Amino acid sequence: MTRSASPPRKKIPVAVLGATGAVGQTFVRLLANHPWFELAELAASERSAGKSYGDAARWLEGDRPDARILGRAVIACDPAAVKSPIVFSALDSSAAGDAEVAFAKAGKLVLSNAKNHRMDPDVPLVIPEINGDHLGLLEEQRRKRGWKGGIVTNANCSATVAAMALAPLHQAFGLKQVFLTTMQALSGAGYPGVPSLDIIGNVIPYIADEEPKLERELGKLLGALRGNEIAEDDFVVSSHTNRVPVEHGHTICATIGFKKRVTPEQAIKVLRSWKGYGGAQNLPSAPAEPLIVRDEPDRPQPRRDVNEGGGMSVTVGRVRRDPILDIRLVAMGHNTVRGAAGGSVMNAELLVSSGAVNLA
Ligand code: NAP
Repeated sequence: MTRSASPPRKKIPVAVLGATGAVGQTFVRLLANHPWFELAELAASERSAGKSYGDAARWLEGDRPDARILGRAVIACDPAAVKSPIVFSALDSSAAGDAEVAFAKAGKLVLSNAKNHRMDPDVPLVIPEINGDHLGLLEEQRRKRGWKGGIVTNANCSATVAAMALAPLHQAFGLKQVFLTTMQALSGAGYPGVPSLDIIGNVIPYIADEEPKLERELGKLLGALRGNEIAEDDFVVSSHTNRVPVEHGHTICATIGFKKRVTPEQAIKVLRSWKGYGGAQNLPSAPAEPLIVRDEPDRPQPRRDVNEGGGMSVTVGRVRRDPILDIRLVAMGHNTVRGAAGGSVMNAELLVSSGAVNLA
């Protein structure tokens, strides 16, 4: 976090729901010293409520939070108990659907990581650099549902990495067909996640409900806001999703066909110059380069590239001609940062800086 734009006059208190989980802990790390937000409340299930955060969360990130955060009592995910106007949700999908609606009804602005409301027609599904203007749907959501609060979601972690590589190409050339094969990190399954005896020295060619999410969400992410709805484009996506023994970082091999003939050189030029939606560029969590294009034949690699831009950059490489469609490439990004908590924090920054939300 290096720069700021349109900062609020004073720090805004925020809560994290699901603060004890893998994504929740990434939120805690990113929010501990955030220039605009004050990490005020930590909530999780009844199993954790009442315990100190240090006792309730098995810390998976690098350095442990300071004593001020570790000693704080975890509260229940109850809208009546949470005072903060902005609520980041890292809840398991079994709890997120109803809980997020209850918080939005109670006037909270909910930034969700869960799958439950992503495809609701009046819920913005946002990656700031790609479709920051989709936040305009929030007004319609509030009008239709009679809420003072609202729900804004970020995309599935693999869909996020894929969308970052595909958006500039779609904007320049128009996508027609996309084949995606993912190699997804273990932290994408939460904690405790996949048993070690199932994954050490192994690849699991199935992640429940992941392929439909990738295939559905890209159309909405890369669609256009027209009036009160998102007009999805008509490109088709086919995906294979695999779990691999990598700690953090989802890698995606993409084969792409366009509406017109596109060469690897043209694609590289577009990817290298892409900065994305203007309103997103100076936010505190915005990386200097949202997309990093590498020339080496053996990059990107999770171990070497996952923390680029504080985990907010997506690295692309191996852009080359494809004998069936037009081009092939590999994209890799941090699943719990860019693909989850960091994406949500940046969505909240965009909402605050654009004045789209009245936090009074
Ligand atoms: P996780 O490690 O299993 O954590 C789940 C969290 O939800 C924990 O804090 C847990 O609290 C809480 N929770 C579970 N049931 C609850 C209930 N009934 N009421 C209140 N809280 C409850 O999962 P995760 O990987 O962090 O994922 C969190 C969400 O983000 C999921 O919806 C996931 O699909 C999504 N997501 C994850 C990633 C990723 O890379 N991991 C990326 C994008 C999106 P307790 O500790 O008290 O049980």
